[in-house]
Amino acid sequence: MTTAAEALQRLIDGNQRFLAGAPSGVLSEVAKREALKDGQAPFAVILGCADSRVSPELVFDQGLGELFVVRTAGHVATPVELGSIEYAVEHLGARLIVVLGHSSCGAVQATLGAMEDPEGEATPNISELIEHIRPGLTSLESAAGAERLTEAVSANVRATVEGLSAGSDVLRERGDLVIMGAVYSLETGAVELLPASDDA
Ligand SMILES: [Zn+2]
Repeated sequence: MTTAAEALQRLIDGNQRFLAGAPSGVLSEVAKREALKDGQAPFAVILGCADSRVSPELVFDQGLGELFVVRTAGHVATPVELGSIEYAVEHLGARLIVVLGHSSCGAVQATLGAMEDPEGEATPNISELIEHIRPGLTSLESAAGAERLTEAVSANVRATVEGLSAGSDVLRERGDLVIMGAVYSLETGAVELLPASDDA
């Protein structure tokens, strides 16, 4: 089994390959696909935003069977997503969970918009999404503009990280599990790790 520290290093190395434009080509290996037909042991869970520009397998240069990926807009984690993650930890052996936000996140932007203009239009389901993100953005310090959005993106990642522990006994109580946040830059392709919280 891959430890959380080893898993993190693999992600960092993969992002370096992605940044350098030198992917390992693991995605297309036929032998790898065949080796996986009887089971999986992904070394990390990525709970990421569904944004089409932030595909975890690509930005971390990982192939089939390596990442257990759960994605929703704004990486919102309801009990359904928590259950998926618990499965990866309990049954597949993943010991690192990375919440992956990104710059200029539309879901975060929409939430900030709804906070500024409560009368704005959103479908009932998008409103539900916004209501999940809103509590994490109530104490932003930046006043407006790009700075506020950048701060909100980090705040949303932290809120999701905390939400995973708060919402799951399994995730909170496992001593060998690390949950951390990261932000992907659409501008550079780099993944920046956010400082780990004490209760990880
Ligand atoms: Zn997003």
